[in-house]
Amino acid sequence: MIFLKTREEIELMRESALMVSRTLAIVAREVKPGVKPIDLDKLAEEFIRDNGGVPAFKGYKSHNGAPDFPATLCISINEAVVHGIPTAQPLKEGDIISVDCGVKKNGYYGDHAYTFAVGAIKPEVQKLIDVTKQSLMLGIEQMISGNRIGDISYAIQQHAEKNGFGVVRELVGHGLGKNLHEEPEVPNYGKRGDGPKLKEGMVLAIEPMINLGKKDIKQLKDGWTIITADGKPSAHFEHDVAIVNGKPEILSSYAFIEEALALVK
Ligand code: MG
Ligand code: MG
Repeated sequence: MIFLKTREEIELMRESALMVSRTLAIVAREVKPGVKPIDLDKLAEEFIRDNGGVPAFKGYKSHNGAPDFPATLCISINEAVVHGIPTAQPLKEGDIISVDCGVKKNGYYGDHAYTFAVGAIKPEVQKLIDVTKQSLMLGIEQMISGNRIGDISYAIQQHAEKNGFGVVRELVGHGLGKNLHEEPEVPNYGKRGDGPKLKEGMVLAIEPMINLGKKDIKQLKDGWTIITADGKPSAHFEHDVAIVNGKPEILSSYAFIEEALALVK
C-alpha cells in the first residue's frame, strides 16, 4: 500500500528532511584525515537530540539476526556501499565516505545521504561521486505525476552505466513517511514505463548506490556493512522528494552541506 501525503504532512516531512541536511552539514565541516567516524556519529546524535529529533537508524532491527544497528549515522568508507557502522579507525587522505542519516520528528521520517571526499582523491573516484550525484538528480527529474517508478530507475541506471559504472541491484530507494521504509521500492535500474504510477503526494527516498567497478556486492560478518565484491569504491547519494503540483519537490537539501564544504576548503 502506497501512502500519499497531504500538504501538511509534506511540510512536516520537509522539517525532518532538513534536520538531516543540517546534520550532514555538521559532519561536512569535520570530514578530514585523522577524524574518527565514531566522533562524527556522536556530533550527529547530539545535534539531532538537541533539536527535538530522534536518530532513526539507532536501534534499527536487522532482518538477519545481527544486533540492532548501533549508531546514528551509517558511515560507509571506500568499498563499503551502505550500512557501514562508525568505527574508531581514523579517516585517511584519499578515502571517500558515504554518510547516511535518518531522523524522526513529529512522527515523520527524513532519510538522506551524501558522499564526501577525505582530502585529495583520485580523479576516477571524483568522477564516480559526480556521476552518482548526477544520476540522483536525473532520477528526480522523472518524478512527475503520471510517470512510473521505472522512469526514475531507468534514468539513474542509464547515466551510471553510460559512464562505465556498476549499479547495485539488491538495495533500493523507497517510500518515506510515518515509516522509514514504505512502498513503493525505487530500484536504481529498470525499464521506462515499468512499476507503480507516480501520483500527487507521493514521497520517495531516491538513493543511487553506484560502484566504480562491477555491480556485485556482499555483506560483512557484522550483519550490516555492504561492500563491493571487487573491493572497488562505491558512492551513494540520497534525497527525499515529494510530488507537489505534479512535479518533484526536493524536501532535503545539499545547500547546507555545500556551504560547509566551501568554508573548509
Ligand atoms: Mg538513507
Ligand atoms: Mg533510504
